[in-house]
Amino acid sequence: MKSFFARYFTAHLTILLISLFAVGLFSIISMDQFLFDDNQERQLLYTETLADMFIAARVEAGMEQDYLDQLKVVDPLRITIIKKDGTVIADSEADWRYMDNHSNRPEIMNAVVYGEGSSKRISNTVHDSLLYTAVYKSESELTFRVSTVVGNIDRMVTQLTFRIAMITMLVLLVALLISFRQTNSINRMLKAIISVVSDYARGDFHQNLYLGGFREAIEVGDAVNAMGRQLKEKIETVTVQRNKSEAMLDNMVEPVLYLDNNLVINDINKAALDMTGCTFAQCLGKNLLQIIRNMDLCRLAEECLDNNAPMAQVITLGNHHYMVQGTTIPAPEEGEFSILLVMNDVSEIKQMELLRKDFVANVSHELRTPITSIIGFVETLRMMPGNQSDQQNKFLEIIHKQSQRLGEIVNDLLALASLEDKHSLEKEALPLKDIIKEAESVCQMKAEARGVSFEHDFDEDIVLCCHKNLTEQALINYLDNAVKYGRENEKVTISAHREGNSTIVCVKDRGNGISEEQQERLFERFYRVDKARSREIGGTGLGLSIVKHIALKHGGRAWVDSTPGVGSSFCISFADCSHR
Ligand code: ADP
Repeated sequence: MKSFFARYFTAHLTILLISLFAVGLFSIISMDQFLFDDNQERQLLYTETLADMFIAARVEAGMEQDYLDQLKVVDPLRITIIKKDGTVIADSEADWRYMDNHSNRPEIMNAVVYGEGSSKRISNTVHDSLLYTAVYKSESELTFRVSTVVGNIDRMVTQLTFRIAMITMLVLLVALLISFRQTNSINRMLKAIISVVSDYARGDFHQNLYLGGFREAIEVGDAVNAMGRQLKEKIETVTVQRNKSEAMLDNMVEPVLYLDNNLVINDINKAALDMTGCTFAQCLGKNLLQIIRNMDLCRLAEECLDNNAPMAQVITLGNHHYMVQGTTIPAPEEGEFSILLVMNDVSEIKQMELLRKDFVANVSHELRTPITSIIGFVETLRMMPGNQSDQQNKFLEIIHKQSQRLGEIVNDLLALASLEDKHSLEKEALPLKDIIKEAESVCQMKAEARGVSFEHDFDEDIVLCCHKNLTEQALINYLDNAVKYGRENEKVTISAHREGNSTIVCVKDRGNGISEEQQERLFERFYRVDKARSREIGGTGLGLSIVKHIALKHGGRAWVDSTPGVGSSFCISFADCSHR
């Protein structure tokens, strides 16, 4: 590529050459034309006067030569008298008798047609430039021609041309010198700007730009210096922030990985390096799968990218369990996203959870036999005739009731433990109406006792993809609560509808309802709104928790919509088999 200097200087040179050449050429042509026109005009006037004088002198035919001789015409003037047919009848210089026909001469031809004519050409006789002017007089039918040597005018023009060329050269030289200096000065400024801006680009902000000369140059200098200062401040801020983030990341106990949209590792913190056993250089630029060979982790990152939404999943790597949280972050490239994976080691929590589950399951299991025998013996004692006092009977009844409650709690705890243990359920397509019928039959007696009736609001063709017993259990729990906590002699409505790829079943009662804060905790184990009342009615506090787990096992969820004073609607969703 051409340098600024070469380009700018060449452009100046070209403009100068073209303008000087154009001015010079125009001056010479104008001058030449002016001199010729002036000369021609004067010579024509002279020819006209001569012709008028000749006619006034009433020269007899054949005496034309004598008349000319009388005039004593001398060089460089020459007069010729020509007849209309072009025959020369007199000439001040040559013998007319030997002169050829002049009818084809341009000045003669024009004079015969227009009254006057002129022409300039090199004479073969004198080898010089001659100007011919001719005037035709119709009364004498003669053409009078005057010719003069005008070579001196051409020589004058040539001389003038030479002088103009010399002056042009001089002007060109001075103009080039000025242009060279200006170009050089702008070139120096550009080089200074390039040097300072290059330093800034390298992160060196020591230099300041000083451009003297004209106002705009000073403004450019000021602007570049301001840009440098701002850049420096911004880079310092970014550096401080980066250092802080790096320090935070490296001091985090949770492994953190930053991946691009192809799952290539772009950054990784110390904890993640310790976890993988690689060095930073070994990890950087590698695909996630090359460094951590776990398909679940890879899938989580991919899903996170596909859905462009945060995702969390427990992933097992060796002996450790991690709660991995994936978040998408807009990448510098437009429309692209990167992923941040934060891995929280939950091995201890998992271990504790396992211990808790085992403990609850074992205790429940161990309690089952003694409780069954207590209930058995109490029932036997109560059936023994006439042995007990009223008080003893009352105590036996209390023992019986509480043992039964204990038995129910143990059963519910075991049900929960077995739900948590199940990895997958065997599901089948079952008509919803059959499941509801079964559940209703279990709650029928309790409902009748409280004057509660069930009503339906669903399409009878709805089919659920579910585990039969568990689904029945979930609906029994909802119906049982609706009967227990709803108002007496009221209706309980069972409705169902499709939503996306799942079916939602709801049980609505007309009870006291539940406040919003309590709704959030309702599905926790042993949570009860009114403990005393629940105990009195005979609840374990585990029913809704069991429904929640059943819903999760069906790829759905359980929730409540309730308005205090109006009633509650407890719902459970079941995902279609093809969408799990
Ligand atoms: P419980 O065996 O005590 O009924 P659940 O887990 O089934 O245990 O219910 C937890 C608590 O939620 C209950 O103690 C009750 O306070 C509240 N609850 C459940 N269903 C309803 C309902 N339909 N109306 C009002 N409160 C309800």
